[in-house]
This record gives sequence, C-alpha cells and structure tokens, in this order.
Amino acid sequence: MSSILIKAGTIVTVNNNGDILNGFSLAVENGKITKIDKTENFSEDVFDVVYDYSNYVIIPGFVQTHVHLCQTLFRGLADDLELLDWLRKHIFPYEFSHDEESLRASAKLGIYELLTGGTTTILDMGTMNHQQVVFDELISSGIRAFAGKCMIDENDIFPDFKEDTKKSIEESYSLAREFHNSANGRIKYAFAPRFVLSCSEKLLIETREIQKDFAGSLYHTHSSENKGEIKAVKEKTGMENIEYFNSIGVLGNKTILAHGIHVNEKEIGILKETDTKISHCPSANLKLASGIANIPRYLVENISVSLGADGPPCNNNLSMFTEMRLASLIQKPIHGPTSMRAETVFRLATIEGAKALGIEDEIGSIEEGKKADLVALDLNNPEQPLIVDKSNIYSAIIYSSSSKHVKEVFVDGKHLVSNGKSLVYDKDDIFHKGKKELNKLLKRVANK
Ligand SMILES: [Zn+2]
Repeated sequence: MSSILIKAGTIVTVNNNGDILNGFSLAVENGKITKIDKTENFSEDVFDVVYDYSNYVIIPGFVQTHVHLCQTLFRGLADDLELLDWLRKHIFPYEFSHDEESLRASAKLGIYELLTGGTTTILDMGTMNHQQVVFDELISSGIRAFAGKCMIDENDIFPDFKEDTKKSIEESYSLAREFHNSANGRIKYAFAPRFVLSCSEKLLIETREIQKDFAGSLYHTHSSENKGEIKAVKEKTGMENIEYFNSIGVLGNKTILAHGIHVNEKEIGILKETDTKISHCPSANLKLASGIANIPRYLVENISVSLGADGPPCNNNLSMFTEMRLASLIQKPIHGPTSMRAETVFRLATIEGAKALGIEDEIGSIEEGKKADLVALDLNNPEQPLIVDKSNIYSAIIYSSSSKHVKEVFVDGKHLVSNGKSLVYDKDDIFHKGKKELNKLLKRVANK
C-alpha cells in the first residue's frame, strides 16, 4: 500500500491525555499511523498521496458495539411497539424470510450508512440463516467488524424461527474457523446467542466453551432490555437476567451485553466483578419504550460502556451522532446537566468501544502505531458553533453535528468515503436493489 500524508486542521486524538492538536499532520503507511507531527515538519514529496484536510477535524472512526445489519431492509416497518411484540409481529418473521440476496442487500445498505456516517468498526449480531453472506459483504466493503451467526434454538415468540442446538453450535464453529481473523485481521468472530428467551441453557454454555477456542473472539448477546422480557427470564430461570448469565458462567471480559437497562444492585456488582461489557443503545431503548439504562452509575463503577445504534427498525438510523447526542441528553434530566459530558460520550463512541472489543491497541484513538481508521469532519457550517476551539470541540461534534458532516473516511488507511460519498457502494444501486429484495421478502412473509 502506498504512503499517505493527511494534512489536518485539528486532530482529536482521544489519547490518554485527551490531546487536541492544531496544525499537525499524519503519515500513514501500510494502513498504520506512522507519524504525527507538526505539518511543517513533513516534506510532501516523499509521500505517494497527500490529502489536504486542513479545513477539517480528524477524529478516530466511531466504534458501534451493537448493530443488526440483517435488519436494515425492515426500517420503518416495525414502529411504535414494545420489544416482544416487535419481535413477534415483525422482526422474527422478516429475519426468518431472508434469502441470500435479501440478506446481502440489507448488509450493503447498513454498511453504506455506517461508513458514510463515520462508523469504521462494528459488532454485528448476524442472523440465523445465510450468515456467510454477511461476512462476504463485511470483507468486501472494507469496514472493520466483529460478527457472528445469530443463535436461536428455542422460540416461543415465533416458533418457526429456531434450529437444532447442535446445528447452531456446529455452524457457528465452522463460520468462526472460516472468518475469525480474516481480511488481515479486520474481520473477527463474535458468537451471538440472541437472548435468554431464545436460547437453551445448553446452547448458552456450550457456545461459551467454543468461544474460548478462538483467541480474540467475543460472546455477544442481549440482556435486561425490557420489563416483560426480564419477567419471562425470571419465569424460565428463576433468576434475574445477569444473575442467570453469571450462574452459568458466560460472563467475563469477552462478553458484551446489549442494553443492561433493568438490573438490580447485585447484578451491577456482577458486571463489575466479571468485567462484562455493556453496549448502550439509547435510541432503541427509547423507541421500544424499554427504559433508560443507568449509564452514569456504570461509569462510576468502572463498568465498560460503549455505544451502538442496534437495528434500523428500532432506531431508525445507524448514526453514531444520534446515539452520542441521546446518550448525553437522556441522562441530564435524571442525573443533572454535568452528567454525560460531551467528552465522556465521545470517548464511549471511540476508545471505549475499542476497549470493549479488546482491540484498543489497534484502534479507538489517533496515535502512532495504531491503524489508520480515521474520519474527517467538516465543522464549518451555519448549524455549528461559529467558533470551535479546544474548549468546545466535543460539544460541536456531539451536540451540533450529524452524519452529513462526515467528509472523508479511512479504514486500515484505505479511503472508503470521499467528500461524503461512498467509494465502495453506488447509492442508487443499493437503494433500488434493496427495495426489490424487500418486496420479494414481504411476499415470502405473506405466503408463509
Ligand atoms: Zn439488538
């Protein structure tokens, strides 16, 4: 790969000191940041390519630790419902009706939105069938991802959508063998039992065992999202959700739980002791009327919190800007105006996401030796602060910016978005193909 010089206006490093650098540039070689120095100390002619982003703010790419690419086609088709009805009436029947082509179209639309919105790394909960297609698309798109086949072997909510325990485990194992650490380590495997209500205890426990065979892989599931859900979990297991996970030994620093809204004191202690990670999805939590997770408390307890948009039908966007803004605002009426400050939220969206995934040595901040997963933002617009300096740069990003301000995106030093446009996907093409596949899928749903 060629050597690149990126001339930056401002660099928000998200390093340990929280350095914000003005008048600096970045050298990138073989996908890694090799040097960060004052712009005048670089000589441009030794680089193969020079990008002049001196009007832009360069930030680390966002890390979303809970998304469902397979659901992008269903955006706007499952609104104004609570979790269990939302799954029963729409999401499970739709996911069940995916074929390879509809799943491919869904993944493309999701990855397009994520990349053009500045998200460079995701943890995706896949779907039960055809998961190979999602991996193919993750690999070819250039995004960084952890993903895995969604595992469901019990399903009282929508009984058709489940499979044999052994098949689920064997297929997950073979996908992990094929895709964990593929694309030069850009793609990793995350085992994905859906949630307690759709998984047998045998599945939950055996999946944990096989996950340990793949160093650097993750265990990704949902927990404690909705009151009806935790009531049903208690009926099934006799315990609260996180207590139950702890009792069967599936928690730990490789486990990421989406949501963690309805938890008791004992469960907070368990999360802390086991170093289990919480992925906070504020839009989805509000839209499904699930509740507001006590994120300030988790942070006080040093429990890992990162952010995700969850699925397009429960959000209905995949924008990290929306999640950051909401993560900050929803806590303020409860915990006061200084809770969830802009800088705190920005760290959750970047370095804390990287830590949750266990790849903080590689991504999550702009530092020499790290991978060049970079985003250039244009903060020079009438809807943004007129003066942006070190004192309010996080505010400008969290409270006044959106995906439309994302101009340039790089993953592993590869240029994926230029001037706000995807260099990977043709926007019209994926839109029309998605529409066609959705219509076919809805016919399959109606005929079942
Ligand atoms: Zn989810």
